[in-house]
Amino acid sequence: MTAVRLVPLGGLGEIGLNCLVVEAGGERLLVDCGLLFAQDHHPGVDYLVPDLSYLDTPGRLRAVVVTHGHEDHIGGIPHLLARHRVPVYGTAMTLGLLRERLAERAPTATSLLQSVAPGAVVEAGPFRVEFIRITHSTAGACALGIEVGGRRIVHTGDFKFDPTPVDGLPTDEAALTRWGDAGVDLLCCDSTNAHRPGPTPSERIVGQAFRDLLPRVEGRAWVATFASNVHRVQQVIEASRAAGRRVTLLGRAMVRTARIARSLGHLKPAPGDLVPEPRSRGFPRDALTVILTGSQAEPGSALWRVTRGLEPHHRIVPGDHVFLSSRLIPGNEREIYRLIDRCIRLGARVHYEEVSEIHVSGHASAADARRMVELTRPRCVLPVHGELRHLQALTDVTREMGYGPDRAFRAENGQVIVLDDGGIRPEGTVPTGRCYVEAGAEAGEGDAALADRRRLGRSGLALVVAAVDPAGAIVWGPRVELRG
Ligand SMILES: [Zn+2]
Repeated sequence: MTAVRLVPLGGLGEIGLNCLVVEAGGERLLVDCGLLFAQDHHPGVDYLVPDLSYLDTPGRLRAVVVTHGHEDHIGGIPHLLARHRVPVYGTAMTLGLLRERLAERAPTATSLLQSVAPGAVVEAGPFRVEFIRITHSTAGACALGIEVGGRRIVHTGDFKFDPTPVDGLPTDEAALTRWGDAGVDLLCCDSTNAHRPGPTPSERIVGQAFRDLLPRVEGRAWVATFASNVHRVQQVIEASRAAGRRVTLLGRAMVRTARIARSLGHLKPAPGDLVPEPRSRGFPRDALTVILTGSQAEPGSALWRVTRGLEPHHRIVPGDHVFLSSRLIPGNEREIYRLIDRCIRLGARVHYEEVSEIHVSGHASAADARRMVELTRPRCVLPVHGELRHLQALTDVTREMGYGPDRAFRAENGQVIVLDDGGIRPEGTVPTGRCYVEAGAEAGEGDAALADRRRLGRSGLALVVAAVDPAGAIVWGPRVELRG
């Protein structure tokens, strides 16, 4: 049997940039290619994508297989396809979200997208990949069962075991068990919540929380969440209906994602539930819920605009309730707390994760991860998708289950992992990194440009301007200008 190499180009040691190369005999398959949103220490940068120069080294990339449509799994694909025109396989929902991204940046690449139904198998060169339905905080998410060179790998993608999923479509445990029965050499498992004990709660409890809370809201209800969390949007619509409210959607991504999800049957509002935004303007405040983007206080997002008075037809007034129905993503807390303060200053009551049960995670905690290992019974486990503490937490879980260092260990980006008859082992490294994307174009590869910007931001700039004649004598100036 062929030895298989795994080369993580992103996502191991960070939340974001998920990108894993699986290769055997010079043939390559890419699992996901995500982005990372820029933070305060990335001045002028829109987002970051993995440095994909490893794919320019000898070897043939056959395809990209995409687990689900979150930005940290698809956001780098337009940049990948600009250099490698290979087919991209994913479910209809995943590709619907990706198609929008490509339309903005690489419209001709949309012909490379190939939709796969959960349960179906695709072949790309020597790779055979089964899409296995799993539950996560977006619709159309799949784990992948990958066969190559006689070896069998299960990649969980992002998942949790939700026994009562909103769309009634649970994780395909029969398929995972079938893979386990036939033998799994390696399980690449989501680590994000492995440090949390117990199972991750069902998405349903959020619906119950909204059914309890919305009838008590006297003014307008504003619910900010990720547009991709289709099941959350569905539950807020249902809870609003029960509370005698109709719903309008605000924010480009929210409207766009809802349109895609409705067309695919993932979002099912009842007739009359949704009101087009222009018609919602005159609605009584206690008869309307606004579901909008901006739960992370992203500049320019709908809630960010509303709190700054930039949406003339939509204002927060005393008596309104604002629900931030998402996780406070580490790094965003300061801006989110500022946003909460703005809402309070406008007279709203604010509900967020720390004070209300209006969010649950879409990621497996320790009990879910253990169950995944029990179903697939892999020979080896590689923790993926997480910062080091998350990867270590999942490694610890596997140790408790009897996996020694030859069968499970923590790896980081660029660490080559070899899977062969002996198990898995690290074998050398390849260069990896991040590319900064500004105004849609890759720029400032490496940290030098950003370091310059930070220095300019701290120290300012001095310009000395003078005109000299050919003999070197100053004929004008010098003029000194100071900026910052
Ligand atoms: Zn995800």
